[in-house]
Amino acid sequence: SAKDAGRNGIQFYDEAMDARARTRLALEYEIRRGLENGEFEAFYQPRVDCLTGEIIGAEALARWRHPERGLLFPDSFIPVCEESGLIRELDRQILAQVARQLSRWAAQGRVLQVSVNLSASQFGDPQLAASLQGILQESACPAQRIELEITESLLLAHDQHTLDTLASLRAMGFAVAIDDFGTGYSNLAYLQNYPLNTLKIDRSFISGLPQSSAIPELITSLCRILSLNMVAEGVENHAQLDWLRQQGCQQYQGYLCSRPLSLAHFNELLEHSTAPA
Ligand code: C2E
Ligand code: MG
Ligand code: MG
Ligand code: MG
Repeated sequence: SAKDAGRNGIQFYDEAMDARARTRLALEYEIRRGLENGEFEAFYQPRVDCLTGEIIGAEALARWRHPERGLLFPDSFIPVCEESGLIRELDRQILAQVARQLSRWAAQGRVLQVSVNLSASQFGDPQLAASLQGILQESACPAQRIELEITESLLLAHDQHTLDTLASLRAMGFAVAIDDFGTGYSNLAYLQNYPLNTLKIDRSFISGLPQSSAIPELITSLCRILSLNMVAEGVENHAQLDWLRQQGCQQYQGYLCSRPLSLAHFNELLEHSTAPA
């Protein structure tokens, strides 16, 4: 009967929900264990000077060296990290690895700037600035070598706490970039109100270049007018890079130069290559 079907439907639904909840919980547990065991690792994608092809730094991107499942990408763990609050510990571990590595490079005479992704949820933590300061002190790394990437959504709220936190991070010496720029609501007022250094134009606008250039043109002029550093994400071919260079975009990341690399491979790249320009 319809009633039975309904009941079965509900039962089936409950079971599916239950299975999903158990899978998520198991994953959360595994991430926790992975964080304790140091299984998360910063990969480095070169950030390149558009004019000279020089590798001036990198973006650090988290990877999970899972003992059974191999190398895992952020889409398989970031969402659960965000939901569970484990993202704070992950972001701190990645930043700590980056800060230690920047000190090692500096000792070898290499001056690079590395950006790290900072989840918006961290900004609710009143200890954020102090905690980042502690990480820097442990590694003797100056904050100037690090750029924090945050997303537009964080700034749209326009709240005083976020503004204060960003101001104190800038005062410590960190640079601040807006990641995936152009994909959020385009309330551009926030660009004036926050202390920013860099806009990273989202890959979705780069992929259409040089044919679809209206938004990239707009963002290039915006950066010029507001004196912001511009970084193009997801540059995959020379036609895109040529367009960006002509428009005065300073830096790019993308497969044209390299995918994100393990530290060992990134160091090899630094030794042996100049990137396309
Ligand atoms: P994102 O910060 O916008 O990073 C750029 C993503 O685009 C990376 O994906 C990168 O591998 C990919 N990418 C770079 N160049 C190209 C290209 O030329 N073509 C294409 N098709 N893709 C390209 P990934 O490493 O999978 O990271 C995905 C997202 O996960 C990141 O987006 C970032 O939002 C987040 N994420 C990664 N690591 C961390 C972390 O340590 N902490 C936090 N909070 N988020 C992280
Ligand atoms: Mg990023
Ligand atoms: Mg991005
Ligand atoms: Mg992105």
